[in-house]
Amino acid sequence: MSSAQSILQAVFGYEQFRGPQQAIVSHVINGGDALVLMPTGGGKSLCYQVPAIARQQLGHGVTIVVSPLIALMHDQVGALHEAGISAAYLNSTLSYDETQEVELRLQSGDITLLYAAPERLNTPRFLGLLDDLHAQGKLSLFAIDEAHCVSQWGHDFRPEYRALSVLHQRYAEVPRIALTATADALTRADIIERLQLEAAQHFISSFDRPNIRYKIAEKKDVSNQLLRFIEREHEGEAGVVYCQSRKRVEELAQTLVQNGINALPYHAGLPQEMRQNHQDRFLREEGVVMCATIAFGMGINKPDVRFVAHVDMPKNIEGYYQETGRAGRDGLPADAWMAYGLSDVVNQRRMIDESPAEEQFKQVMRGKLDALLGLAEATDCRRVRLLAYFGEQYGQEPSLDGKPLQAVARTHCGNCDNCLEPPALWDGTDAARKLLSTIFRVHEASGLTYGAGHIMDVLRGKETDKVTQYGHDKVSTFGIGKDYSEPQLRAVMRQLLATGALGLHKVVSENSGHVFDTLCLAAGSRAVLKGEVQVQLREAVAASRSKKQSKKSAANAAAVNLGPDAQVRFINLKAWRAEVAKSHNLPAYVIFHDATLASIAELNPQSLQELQGVSGMGTKKLDAYGAEVLRVVALG
Ligand code: ADP
Ligand code: ZN
Repeated sequence: MSSAQSILQAVFGYEQFRGPQQAIVSHVINGGDALVLMPTGGGKSLCYQVPAIARQQLGHGVTIVVSPLIALMHDQVGALHEAGISAAYLNSTLSYDETQEVELRLQSGDITLLYAAPERLNTPRFLGLLDDLHAQGKLSLFAIDEAHCVSQWGHDFRPEYRALSVLHQRYAEVPRIALTATADALTRADIIERLQLEAAQHFISSFDRPNIRYKIAEKKDVSNQLLRFIEREHEGEAGVVYCQSRKRVEELAQTLVQNGINALPYHAGLPQEMRQNHQDRFLREEGVVMCATIAFGMGINKPDVRFVAHVDMPKNIEGYYQETGRAGRDGLPADAWMAYGLSDVVNQRRMIDESPAEEQFKQVMRGKLDALLGLAEATDCRRVRLLAYFGEQYGQEPSLDGKPLQAVARTHCGNCDNCLEPPALWDGTDAARKLLSTIFRVHEASGLTYGAGHIMDVLRGKETDKVTQYGHDKVSTFGIGKDYSEPQLRAVMRQLLATGALGLHKVVSENSGHVFDTLCLAAGSRAVLKGEVQVQLREAVAASRSKKQSKKSAANAAAVNLGPDAQVRFINLKAWRAEVAKSHNLPAYVIFHDATLASIAELNPQSLQELQGVSGMGTKKLDAYGAEVLRVVALG
């Protein structure tokens, strides 16, 4: 057995490496540089933790982990302690004395993994420490977590990351491993250049997250839709609800609380103390639903987040994928649910149009928004589309030699809404042409542009005050779309906005001074009007949605398949774990994952020997908790 394999089993209690972990680990143990691209939840931590331990055993000294996630370092280090690994962190939350103590331990060679914030790395004091270690040959490895923070193209740019080029300049022969879940090529190139990783081997995993079920619904009354979703499918479970604005975060959290859901708000406008408190509660309590802006989530490694919901549409697929990726890190079933509507399309388009960025940049952003709209309106497999966006053909995961593992790409995943309940399609080509003509006609009649509601009224032949006042009941297209329902026409408009046949035009009301978004024809309209493009749409009916069996008993995803006796053991084990976690001031999952407790409950072990084989039960944990676990199991 290789040392990497024995570390995996003894320290982490896992039987096998996942995907490319093994190749990465042995490359880095042998002193190679690596760039690791793996989706959230793919298992990046082990890629540097196992080499850190192995290289320490070989006498190479300490591994420095650069991470921007100061608020999480305590828990990360705590998790390593639980596994019996000597780790520490240096960041601004430590007192002077605490800092000095860590520095002393570092000098004495007592630490295997040291977590540090990037700004710390460039201080003379810290560099002095590293110089000393380096001179003694005790600087083993640099792990640069969340490496996309170095790039302006990534969404989490941190200027401090730029200073990390010092690592290569100063300690050229110390190996470096950079890790990120951000896949796009621009960011990747930036990471390589900025961190001088030209010689690094690239390890690119499949970005598929098979246990996440993607669902995208049309937005109607989104608070109620969300409530129903949580009540029916995720009662008592932990989740994150992403909102576009701070105001919405607070309103929604309140609504959920009023409906008996344990929800908390999180956004950058809340006091730091409250944010930390809410984050801690999310990590430590069971079944907390966090309503948040995108300020929340990076580095949150809580494994049992059962759903991620978007009540507003994100900016692009990169953001959507990163956020939804926070669900189901433990590999158990999880949901990614999004509701979107015409207003989302309008808002996002407006934000781009109004941003002070250069036209070229805006063009790129519009393209990214359109790709996300395309995903939302899609009638085929969501997963196939998501992976295609990241340059991957579903079922043709890149293998280590770059050749696909399977000969033929797959077209269905069986685990998204479109695969599970294929939507009915309707041909919206005629409706689209009528809609565009109406916009053209009313503009021709008065030289003005109008909002979606008015256009639909004209098209459907409604004689509203506004319609008659403007004389729009006289235009030739008045009433020619009376056979179409409003939801149908909204779907057509979303599609036309998404594909660039429609544009938005801002109008200021003379009476109120309010700014309105109105519809105008855009470059892509010509082809639709000429009948050159087909407009295929999802059937916009909500009534046909099959009623999901409500999971009343707040059943835990890890425990759904347990028999009645095992359920009791599972519940007892969880109660015991909660006490241990509390006394150690750590989240429960750091002690044991749900999946580990479920395996124990099912196994009903009578001896330490039996307990040893359970996934997640490393040597240290067996020593520390084995006897207690057996006692709790015996309570029956
Ligand atoms: P990432 O940092 O890539 O988002 P993590 O390193 O947090 O992912 O790993 C995700 C989860 O998968 C963790 O709970 C981790 O314990 C688990 N995990 C990682 N590698 C393995 C493995 N080889 N076998 C079993 N579980 C693993
Ligand atoms: Zn699918």
